[in-house]
Amino acid sequence: MELVARAYDTGRPIWLRLQDGRVAEARTMPEERHAGALPWVAPGLVDIQVNGYGGQEFSSLDLTPERVAEIARQHDAWGVTAFCPTLTTQSFACLAHGLGAIARACESDREVQRLVWGIHLEGPYFCPEDGPRGAHPREHCRRPDWDEFLRLQEAAGGRIRILTMSPEFEEAPAFISRAAAAGVVVALGHMGATAEQIRAAVDAGARLSTHLGNGAHRMLPRHPNYLWDQLAEDRLLASLIVDGHHLPPEVVKVFVRAKTPERLVLVSDLSGLAGLPPGRYTSSGCEVEILDDGRLVLAGQQQLLAGASRPLGMGVINVMRYAGVDLATAIAMASARPACLLGRRCGGLRPGDPAELVLFDLRENPPEFSVRATIAGGRVVAGSLPAYQPL
Ligand SMILES: [Zn+2]
Repeated sequence: MELVARAYDTGRPIWLRLQDGRVAEARTMPEERHAGALPWVAPGLVDIQVNGYGGQEFSSLDLTPERVAEIARQHDAWGVTAFCPTLTTQSFACLAHGLGAIARACESDREVQRLVWGIHLEGPYFCPEDGPRGAHPREHCRRPDWDEFLRLQEAAGGRIRILTMSPEFEEAPAFISRAAAAGVVVALGHMGATAEQIRAAVDAGARLSTHLGNGAHRMLPRHPNYLWDQLAEDRLLASLIVDGHHLPPEVVKVFVRAKTPERLVLVSDLSGLAGLPPGRYTSSGCEVEILDDGRLVLAGQQQLLAGASRPLGMGVINVMRYAGVDLATAIAMASARPACLLGRRCGGLRPGDPAELVLFDLRENPPEFSVRATIAGGRVVAGSLPAYQPL
């Protein structure tokens, strides 16, 4: 397979030959031969936080391997070549069921196996306080329990790769050490923790702040507070939801400057309700509302967001607009950085790189990351390649 597109990192036209799922040859092309509408080409996006889609949460007793496969394949159309199904706080029975359904989908379907780079367990070890717990049901928020975690990991066939938890439990540092030693990326989120508790969690091996600036109290002391503490902690990467609703543009800009792009990961945090029309819904035992502007909120509490509804490409274009970073920097936040966190190699444009690629256009008004084609596993899995003119 051969293609010509504009390289996301150099801005120059590039010719690529792909073979056996890898980039076999890459050549930068003269600019003048390709004036006009070449799409961009970049590594396929990697989304480490996806709660479901189209009315189906992963954290659900209704989840089936078939539904997992449908949601997984949906990612092809978004230029996302790998993702982490994310289960939010629920009862043990519900989590074990959801994890088992995902494991069976991975075992029985090669496409799902290709797309699912691990499972993200967001909860249930969260502090039950209103505000930080967001839409995680209070009755299922609980203290960290290593034996329970092992049983969940077993249900998942060992696929839990990220665990988000609150660090303020007394037993959190010991729990985090064990999880980190077992190869799980421990992330901090939905917290009310002190600077000391955050430091102890990071000393124990926590590596990421989950959706920094969301899942937080509506009011905080000006300082100290856990936002400054996490921003100042250079050992923590941070994930951000830059969908245009979860963080104001100014906050995104400040977070990017303070944390530096090298420590940032973009996530969609797609809700299982994403893709449904405006209205009231019950999701994971919670009354949730989709507003006309696309925001997902707890019913009757418009300030409390309950999830997101835009695919990861939206974060790429928004972080460029809000923080003034270039395309290469924004793409790295949504591909190489999350891949690295998971110990994986994402797609790339050099010989030998995995041919996991997205071809896209960036539109300004309204801002849109418009996918023309997605290449994965050695073939076009969505859209079509632009007509190729032999050299
Ligand atoms: Zn969350």
